[in-house]
Amino acid sequence: MQQKIPTVIIIGAGLGGLTFYHALIKNKDKKEFDVKIFERESGPQDRWQGYHIGINNYGARSLINCISPSIALNLPKAMPNPIPNLEYHGFSLADHTGSLLLKPPTKQVKDVYEVANTTNSLSTIITYRDRLRDILLENVPVQWGKKCIGYEETDDGVWVLFEDGSKEFCDILVGADGVNSPVRKQKLPELQIFDYGITMIIADVAAPKNLLDRLIKLNGNGTFQETVGFYGDTTFIFFRHIPIEQENFENKNETYYRATILYGYPTKLDDEHDEHKVDDEDSASVVNHVKYYIRKLRPKCEMTNIVLELWDLVPKTTPDSKKYPFKTYNPVRRRKMRDIDPLSINTWTSIRVTLLGDAAHATSPVLGIGANNAIEDAEVLSKALLNYSPENYISCIKEYENEMLKRNSTDVLHSRSIALRQASQVGYIGSIFRNNFMRIVNFFINFFDLNFLVRKTS
Ligand SMILES: Cc1cc2nc3c(=O)[nH]c(=O)nc-3n(C[C@H](O)[C@H](O)[C@H](O)COP(=O)(O)OP(=O)(O)OC[C@H]3O[C@@H](n4cnc5c(N)ncnc54)[C@H](O)[C@@H]3O)c2cc1C
Repeated sequence: MQQKIPTVIIIGAGLGGLTFYHALIKNKDKKEFDVKIFERESGPQDRWQGYHIGINNYGARSLINCISPSIALNLPKAMPNPIPNLEYHGFSLADHTGSLLLKPPTKQVKDVYEVANTTNSLSTIITYRDRLRDILLENVPVQWGKKCIGYEETDDGVWVLFEDGSKEFCDILVGADGVNSPVRKQKLPELQIFDYGITMIIADVAAPKNLLDRLIKLNGNGTFQETVGFYGDTTFIFFRHIPIEQENFENKNETYYRATILYGYPTKLDDEHDEHKVDDEDSASVVNHVKYYIRKLRPKCEMTNIVLELWDLVPKTTPDSKKYPFKTYNPVRRRKMRDIDPLSINTWTSIRVTLLGDAAHATSPVLGIGANNAIEDAEVLSKALLNYSPENYISCIKEYENEMLKRNSTDVLHSRSIALRQASQVGYIGSIFRNNFMRIVNFFINFFDLNFLVRKTS
């Protein structure tokens, strides 16, 4: 008798859920599933997805393994090949003046295939997150506007429940629904989100060439730059040296680049400086808040001026979509830096319901690995499901979860310890010790080609 084709439901059409969808379809000849994917957003343009992310070696490898060759052909739209001699795709850390503290040795790659073949996970390509999602959405029948609110297990499968009152039945349910995952909250209510006590504000801007030239002159041509201050405050700037279309800009003689900027500070500063009020519903107020801290916490210097000028570029109101280079726009707001260590509880029981990506192990953005790990999960889970049968589905889920939990717990805790160390308020004198220590470390890791920041992969 012919066996029924099992149904897999994916909740969440983010980078992890979409990659997993493609992997199951790609493996169809080996194991066929009826795959359905549901997303709470109303459509692909509902929410701005635009910030830059670094796709590293194992993320690139898993991505290429999961998607079809025809979709892979589009990857350069999201991750244009690094521009030789102009862009340095790697991480660099500087002090508040832009003076280099740490620049781990990083192999420069020519394209996504070369990054996939390196063994150093700090080799990355800075990628447009929105375009990567658009590419992954191609030919995927996402069911939009379907917010999952929970599930009910039966002896034969799982009913997935939606806010609109509908429900769907499946054999396996995969929660790829991000850090606030309702699937995780039901499966593992005791697994808590860890709050770092760090506030971060993220924005995308169109930065003029003259401003980025000043940054590069000071801080080098790294596409992923961080600076640390005295009081646990950090700035991040990610950019590509690829001009965006100019016709919409006021100054037609200037070239503009897309940049993601992030400002982070210890949340307790908000209590100490409560004379400065901020309204999170109002972008202008949030930007003023960031500039207030930058001026208060950072000494006057060229690097401080550059950071302030970048924050001045954030649109204060919803911009005219014809003038603004991005398809949609999210108001900037304060966010908490958080993560989830999946091994902080020891009660993971493998059932028909599992988790993937941020839903299982949200990671701080400091090491730039959250999306890479979500994509890697997609590959590992799809491989484990190749052995699926109605009798042994639990062992497939167990195989995936054993690997996923160990790998991601290590990464989450590594990223957490770096973020918390950077957020310590060392003060002026303390910063002299910290900065010199980092310079010494930088010398050794470059001299001996060591790298303690990265996960070693084969
Ligand atoms: C500033 C910043 C920089 C970053 N930089 C990097 C980087 O350089 N490299 C890197 O690897 N990672 C980076 N990350 C992390 C990365 O963006 C995330 O780890 C990654 O997007 C997680 O993918 P995901 O698919 O698990 O979750 P998400 O991308 O959050 O997708 C979850 C999806 O589920 C949907 N959803 C949620 N709830 C429901 C529901 N109830 N019903 C239906 N659908 C639902 C959401 O709408 C969303 O579409 C960065 C993050 C930030 C904030």
